[in-house]
Amino acid sequence: MALIKDKILVIEDEKSISYLLGTVLTANGYDVIKAYTGTEACEMLDAYCPDLILLDLGLPDRDGVDVIKSVRSWSMLPIVVISARSQEKDKVEALDLGADDYVTKPVGSSELLARVRTALRHGAVAAGARQPSEVFRVGALELDFGKRLLKVEGTEVHLTQVEYKIVAFLARNAGRVMTYDAIISHVWGPYMDDNNRILRVNMANIRRKLEKNPAEPAYLFTEIGVGYRMAEEENNA
Ligand code: CA
Repeated sequence: MALIKDKILVIEDEKSISYLLGTVLTANGYDVIKAYTGTEACEMLDAYCPDLILLDLGLPDRDGVDVIKSVRSWSMLPIVVISARSQEKDKVEALDLGADDYVTKPVGSSELLARVRTALRHGAVAAGARQPSEVFRVGALELDFGKRLLKVEGTEVHLTQVEYKIVAFLARNAGRVMTYDAIISHVWGPYMDDNNRILRVNMANIRRKLEKNPAEPAYLFTEIGVGYRMAEEENNA
């Protein structure tokens, strides 16, 4: 059986970073193609139909955000953004425009591979090539979407309706960061005022119920200034 490799388009103008990303991805079984400008990227998208895009936001000829907008106008292709540590606003903008996730420079190889794997899997579910699982499991946590039942170490955890909606949304998107706005509009709709505070209060309550040590969460991680991320199911990695 021929092994079909996932093809990743790396769009990054800094040669040393592009080289590093290419080396890590190739060593881990991906096909890598590279573009160094936004214009080049658009040509390569048409020519090569990649399975995922790794996108630097600061390109010499175009803003990376424009690349996201133009890809999202015709495709749900997974996009993982590469951004600097301090650029929370840029990350949020990219995610709210439809990027799937981000990695932070300097990019560590385990972080990179985890983000790529997760984005490819969610891309396959979104495209209908894979069924989303009906029970989500990570560590001692088990969430049955059909029964709306959450257990930790085999014991049922009682959540309010809002808390359940938040946890289920994060679990459906496990491994991916979800922005504050994405969570809020999913749970309460897009027209809620002062929603960040309400979300924070709910997250604090959820953590008290789920986490042994809420200060060092095992399931629900905070991405400061961006949003929240649910730990990824091990058996799907
Ligand atoms: Ca750059």
